[in-house]
Amino acid sequence: MEEQNQQNFIPMVDLKEEVNLMGQSIIKSVTDVIESGAYVLGEKGKKLEHELAGYLNVSYALGVANGTDALYIALKALGIGIGDEVITTPFTFFGTAEAIAQAGAKPVFADIDEETYNIDPYKMEKAITPKTKAIIVVHLFGLSAKMSQIMEIAKKHHIKVIEDACQAIGTEYQGKRVGSIGDIGCFSFFPSKNLGAFGDAGLVVTNNKDLYKNMFMLRNHGSDKKYLHSLIGMNSRLDEIQAAILLVKLKYFDVFLHLRKEIAKNYTENIHKSLKKPKIYENREHTFHQYCIELDERNELSAYLLEKGISSAIYYPVPLHLQEAFSYLNYKEGDFPLAETIAKRILALPISPTMSREIQENIINCVNEFLGEKGSK
Ligand SMILES: *Cc1c(COP(=O)(O)O)cnc(C)c1O
Repeated sequence: MEEQNQQNFIPMVDLKEEVNLMGQSIIKSVTDVIESGAYVLGEKGKKLEHELAGYLNVSYALGVANGTDALYIALKALGIGIGDEVITTPFTFFGTAEAIAQAGAKPVFADIDEETYNIDPYKMEKAITPKTKAIIVVHLFGLSAKMSQIMEIAKKHHIKVIEDACQAIGTEYQGKRVGSIGDIGCFSFFPSKNLGAFGDAGLVVTNNKDLYKNMFMLRNHGSDKKYLHSLIGMNSRLDEIQAAILLVKLKYFDVFLHLRKEIAKNYTENIHKSLKKPKIYENREHTFHQYCIELDERNELSAYLLEKGISSAIYYPVPLHLQEAFSYLNYKEGDFPLAETIAKRILALPISPTMSREIQENIINCVNEFLGEKGSK
């Protein structure tokens, strides 16, 4: 698109600017790996696992190839497969439910609550059947789901909880980091995530030693001793170059999270109050992987911003129960009205930690201008 070539076009996230800030440290860390001659399952990966286990306050962390594999490995480690049902939200990235289907189980959706965009614990409980083995709870856009209710329901019905924290590394819920609350936590380091590699990478975490041992084997051909294979696993490892990059980025991570929160605060205070904006909850911090607003004229606002050189994005335009790939589940329009309505109204604004105050003002002014023009018609 022509606008996107313009020098001053504002992208959803400016990854290059983050790297510039970190100077030569990433190049140095990557050079260490190149010179070490060890490229898969080496020292950097181990160090990263150790640091992330500390950061998330869990007993075990294991690097894997990406966030979707993290979810798949978590399901397999819990023994979930053919004949089982796994409940999740229809309002998430496709990979969440894709992993359930890959594992051989049936995705079962339950609608969201309209304030947090996350699964509604009450509707989740209503979807439980004798076949339900687990729920994958997603902390969408960096805001935690209602974990205390969810954990209570899961315990009552003897079902496992996998946290899809791919968008929420560092998010806290009642003093705990998400991913550390359920049986297994899953993370993605896809470049655009809050902590991003320079390619695909992911992580699984747990406090359960048996699950750890299982996942340790699953990510590496079902093996824990070379050429001895106890299970059918897969090849899903986080390579040394990505680990080297993530180790450097992790040092800056808290600063970047803080900057995201500052930008969100600025948006919330200054974007016109007629728009629905993210709510701030006590004891449930938001790390703003995305900053989303809601309005009926979503498409018009998006086009208006583009004209002014500002990107915006729709996460997600089609809820998962209406995706062609899941047509075999026989859901229909109207099954999850909140997810469907929000999919039509939601719009994400640019949020790069490095975004200047001036750029933020520009975005705020353009959104408010749009509302003013609309109002005067
Ligand atoms: C990004 C993401 C995934 C998948 O992660 P990949 O590393 O891209 O495989 C899964 N769930 C959610 C909610 C995500 O945002």
